Amino acid sequence: MQKRILVTGGAGFVGCHLCERLVAQGHQVIAVDNYYTGRRENLTALLGLPNFETLRHDVTFPLYLEVDEIYNLACPASPVHYQRDPVQTTKTSVLGAINMLGMAKRLGIPILQASTSEIYGDPDVHPQVEDYRGLVSISGPRACYDEGKRCAETLFYDYKRRHGVEIRVARIFNTYGPRMNLEDGRVVSNFIVQALRNEPITLYGDGRQTRAFCFVDDLVEGLMRLMNVTQPLDSAVNLGNPVETSMAEIADLIISLTGSRSPIVFRPLPQDDPRQRCPDISKAHELLHWRPKVPLQDGLKRTISYFEGVLSKMHDPVRR
Ligand code: NAD
Ligand code: UDP
Ligand code: UDP
Repeated sequence: MQKRILVTGGAGFVGCHLCERLVAQGHQVIAVDNYYTGRRENLTALLGLPNFETLRHDVTFPLYLEVDEIYNLACPASPVHYQRDPVQTTKTSVLGAINMLGMAKRLGIPILQASTSEIYGDPDVHPQVEDYRGLVSISGPRACYDEGKRCAETLFYDYKRRHGVEIRVARIFNTYGPRMNLEDGRVVSNFIVQALRNEPITLYGDGRQTRAFCFVDDLVEGLMRLMNVTQPLDSAVNLGNPVETSMAEIADLIISLTGSRSPIVFRPLPQDDPRQRCPDISKAHELLHWRPKVPLQDGLKRTISYFEGVLSKMHDPVRR
């Protein structure tokens, strides 16, 4: 059945992949974005298709559309970008959630929130299960994002309890892949671009901090399965690839996959940078029969070829 589907943040890294999958399934997709970190080029393959539309709009303001489903992804995700205008980041999460929940309530439709592993903060439980309440700074530089996303989740649960809105909350762990922005600032794109240019790889801290990296296609599959769950949901689901990797390992892997001559240089660890992070995905597995399929090496190879293409188009020849 063809649905009209709203994707906020549709011109961003995850959003553009999600829009492509939904359009390919024959749905009518509307990508809403204010282009804070997203780009129209991300949507090149879709622009002009009869079942795809874009709308420049900031989700902190009300929006009235008639749709059948909402994926609420609007929010900068990279620390560099969400800390650039922290007040706007909190507004995007909180007011954006209120407006999109208001729309879901008015229309009686399901809505999915792109929440984050950051709501666990610098966790003292490992791996992180959904019941863990987190260890989050209320005042540090990451708080605008972490607390904004926590408040957005609270709004989702209250709209469910008070108004019966059909909610889905995905706690997304670090995701990477083609169409990350060159200037995104997150570790995978930074290291790949540095490696391809034979520039120093900037390893923050001692490089022993860990993350678990999910390839974007796997994440999008998880998001769509979560949206399509038929039983009522009133709590969050972790989505991520539970292979814990240190940043030093990621640097070495990217240097070896690119054949780069880049040296590794150590830079100070940003304040409140979580030391360890890895999802427990048992709930996603039981509920969605979902597990990530793309191994890190394969996903990195695909991301590296993407960035090789981007750099060569910019006449920034890959220096080997
Ligand atoms: P991204 O920065 O590439 O995309 C976010 C998009 O939202 C951009 O297109 C941006 O322009 C848009 N946007 C920002 N503020 C907006 C506003 N006020 N109104 C309308 N549009 C706005 O980030 P991403 O990696 O694609 O992340 C997508 C979502 O997934 C975000 O909500 C993020 O918090 C969440 N998430 C991502 C990851 C990850 O590793 N990629 C991890 C956890 C959670
Ligand atoms: N809203 C929106 N689009 C809609 C419906 C509501 O942007 O289709 C906004 C509305 O402007 C309000 C917010 O969502 O600011 C919350 O709506 P709700 O109905 O929950 O709250 P109320 O209007 O009663 O304050
Ligand atoms: N990081 C790094 N070098 C970089 C960018 C990031 O060592 O050039 C580290 C960062 O300190 C963190 C990890 O990589 O420990 C993941 O950072 P990212 O910004 O990608 O995601 P997040 O911290 O939000 O999980």
